[in-house]
Amino acid sequence: MEQLYNFINGEYIPPSLNQYIDVFEPAIGKVYAQVADSNSDDVENAFRFAENAFSGWSELTVKERADILNRIADGIESRLDEFAYYESKDTGKPITQARTVDIPRAIANLRFFSEYVYSFDFESNLTDDISKNKVVRSPLGVVGCISPWNLPLYLFSWKIAPALIAGNTVLAKPSELTPYTAYKLGEICQDSGLPSGVLNIIHGQGSIAGDAMISHPKIKAVSFTGGTATGKLIAEKTASSFKKLSLEMGGKNPAIIFSDCNYDKMLEIVIRSSFSNQGQVCLCSSRILIEKSIYDKFKKDFISRVSGLIVGDPNDEETQFGAISSQAHYNKILDYIILGKQEGGEILLGGNAVKINGRCKDGYFIEPTIFQGLKNSCQTNQDEIFGPVVTLIPFDTEEDGIRIANNIKYGLSATIWTEDMVKAQRVAKGVDAGVIWVNCWLVRDLRTPFGGMKKSGLGREGGDEALRFFTEPKNICTLI
Ligand code: NAD
Repeated sequence: MEQLYNFINGEYIPPSLNQYIDVFEPAIGKVYAQVADSNSDDVENAFRFAENAFSGWSELTVKERADILNRIADGIESRLDEFAYYESKDTGKPITQARTVDIPRAIANLRFFSEYVYSFDFESNLTDDISKNKVVRSPLGVVGCISPWNLPLYLFSWKIAPALIAGNTVLAKPSELTPYTAYKLGEICQDSGLPSGVLNIIHGQGSIAGDAMISHPKIKAVSFTGGTATGKLIAEKTASSFKKLSLEMGGKNPAIIFSDCNYDKMLEIVIRSSFSNQGQVCLCSSRILIEKSIYDKFKKDFISRVSGLIVGDPNDEETQFGAISSQAHYNKILDYIILGKQEGGEILLGGNAVKINGRCKDGYFIEPTIFQGLKNSCQTNQDEIFGPVVTLIPFDTEEDGIRIANNIKYGLSATIWTEDMVKAQRVAKGVDAGVIWVNCWLVRDLRTPFGGMKKSGLGREGGDEALRFFTEPKNICTLI
């Protein structure tokens, strides 16, 4: 069985205790690799190399760093099909999605920061009548990046790209559930001339390897994406060390659908925003709020269209809906479906595990599931299920829609559907979410701030926000 080693100081090395964690292919429910179960010794080892590499890397010109990141992007692109295959195998997502969304976006992340960095003010001057102020932004040193399993290389690269381009050296930990593409990235880094020690990829459990990273006294910042409970733990554990923290966490996002929307376009995109990646995108719509006058029509059309989604082997080109990414998560989603019924919800579609014949007979598949009749205040509507389960909730007025949308601890994203642009702006202003899409979903200009409010996030990623996070400003004041 293939063993996935850490990538430290430009080389693949086994974990210090030579212990491993099973890696499953969720579509078939079987182990296909073993990944390093690293501990604090491995983190310390990686840290020492990253610390040594810092001065060389941070003293390169921005162009020299950008050229290397672009070569990494080119390297992934030249192996796009292979990377897409492994991303799909590791996560259970349809191969078409890995090929057209996940891996292209990982490439785009690296290219974006390699280009955008030229517009970032690493040095700026402010002068008044008596003083000249030079503001210099310097890299922090060694930083930690921790990413989840739902969009593995997509989110891993979204963190390491700004960290590296700003001149930091990095310890990065992908999810232990989906480590394969981050593991393979080491080969691309070797081929791209990334100096040894600049990017170190540590695999392992969050509570051991992740904990060693966040607890390391000399790691200056932690950029984390994952669940809110983990983010809270990281915030608590790092509080006394005053590390810089960026936390991208869970969501329970509303789609607010008004009767004056472009109905056909809305229907098509709300299906995607609800069930992409089997509902395992932090930005997925899971509470579908519908103006009462079109509730029955929407319900009928939504059920009919969702029931046509092709659930199947992620390897098949026509599959639109693949496997749930792990058995534990599959069980959790099925438990939430039971809870939804106990809370009085009516299942309009789905609600069951799916048995697929052949290769995928033991895979973790769940039908796209639609509930109605659940109060917004119930647990099914308040907890992040992070799976293919949505609830339909009717609303009367604009104020009513905004109130239901906001009546939740999360505030990551929202979609608003109306052709009245004045109303759209008004509703967008009223909804507590860091990312709001009007008549669209998942459209991303990577320069814009990305992240959530309330229990969904602390800080923002993207463009200047990320480059500010990964640098420390110093003001040098002289008298005129
Ligand atoms: P998770 O919190 O379990 O794990 C995320 C990462 O943190 C993994 O690499 C894990 O090993 C690590 N980790 C776990 N415990 C740790 C600890 N004590 N110390 C340090 N690291 C630790 O999340 P997950 O289940 O992998 O991902 C799903 C969650 O991620 C969902 O809640 C989803 O909404 C969220 N998410 C948010 C965004 C966003 O941009 N806001 C994007 C994608 C996913």
